[in-house]
Amino acid sequence: MTFSAVIVAGGSGARAGPWGAKQWRNLGGKTVLRWSAEALLEAGAKTLIVVIPAGDETIAARALAGLSGWHTVTGGATRAESTSAGLAALGCSDDEIVLIHDAARPFLGQNTIKSLIAALEGCDGAIPALAAADTLKREDAEGTVTVPRKGIWRAQTPQAFRLGHLRAACAAWPQNEDATDEAGIVERFGGRVTLVPGDPRLFKLTYPEDFEMAQALCGAARVTCIGQGFDAHRFGEGDAVWLCGVQIAHSHSLIGHSDADAGLHALTDALLGAVGAGDIGDHFPPTDPKWKGAASDLFLRHAVDLITARSGAIVNVDVTLICESPKIKPHREAMRQRLAGLLNLGIDRVSVKATTTEGMGFTGRREGLAAQAIATVEMPR
Ligand code: MG
Repeated sequence: MTFSAVIVAGGSGARAGPWGAKQWRNLGGKTVLRWSAEALLEAGAKTLIVVIPAGDETIAARALAGLSGWHTVTGGATRAESTSAGLAALGCSDDEIVLIHDAARPFLGQNTIKSLIAALEGCDGAIPALAAADTLKREDAEGTVTVPRKGIWRAQTPQAFRLGHLRAACAAWPQNEDATDEAGIVERFGGRVTLVPGDPRLFKLTYPEDFEMAQALCGAARVTCIGQGFDAHRFGEGDAVWLCGVQIAHSHSLIGHSDADAGLHALTDALLGAVGAGDIGDHFPPTDPKWKGAASDLFLRHAVDLITARSGAIVNVDVTLICESPKIKPHREAMRQRLAGLLNLGIDRVSVKATTTEGMGFTGRREGLAAQAIATVEMPR
């Protein structure tokens, strides 16, 4: 049976911590989104629509690099609007089976997908659900009261429907009301939804603790690798230097084939070193005129993409800039922010430090500056 799928990845994920939208967070070497995208494509999804926040197209392309059969559309203000946008992008017939999935549930198993498709025969919707195992309480001003849990189920995703029926149900859904899942929309429309056994591993990443649990689930077969890098560039004529992706006004510029950002070069070498992938010169030969004047964030992104393609995850980086001038401290936070963005890491995992050589050596004589970096990367064992 063929099917198509929609992954709703439009959330800002404010509850999951200070690391930004949860669908783009790294989990065991790939983004949270990629886990379920791979599962749905492996199960044979004919088309996969990923509903993302406006402006996140580049990050989505990076997250799903190497996979085929997916497209992105921009989500709406509510879940129902986002789902409708995803359904509108599916160019298939009303009879087609469509699975709607939350990006925040990465551990989607093949058996769940098969069960849903099989269960859809003879009803309007099929969803995975877990029986409530805990005793349920309701609390109000009077105190708590125990709620009978018989017949209470916790709904998960993906949720399976016929495309035509779900489109009609979404169209009838009141615009001033938000829905927490698509089964609720279909139920309101008068559809009959059936339950299939859910999977505890399909839990939703909502709070920071959920990420810790998810990382533990996929972290057992990984090893931590360390790489280090060093670079130096000479001062020459000019009025600004690039360091760690930030431009700083200065009495000189740094001379090099690219923008001579020694911080980014050292860090790129550290990342390449952690995964045994040679050095920056192997990937971007200084003899190649193509890289003349290049912005060095390109080199760093290349190393990040290479690690991502090998299912690695950068854990933390630490850069030390060695110079008498310019003064680094006023720019340190901007550099950390810039690196965190380029590496898709939380700011607390990115360190930039500065030191001098007490007037000694080439940095002491202000002939140039140097940078060294260290990076830890988690790789499959
Ligand atoms: Mg260099």
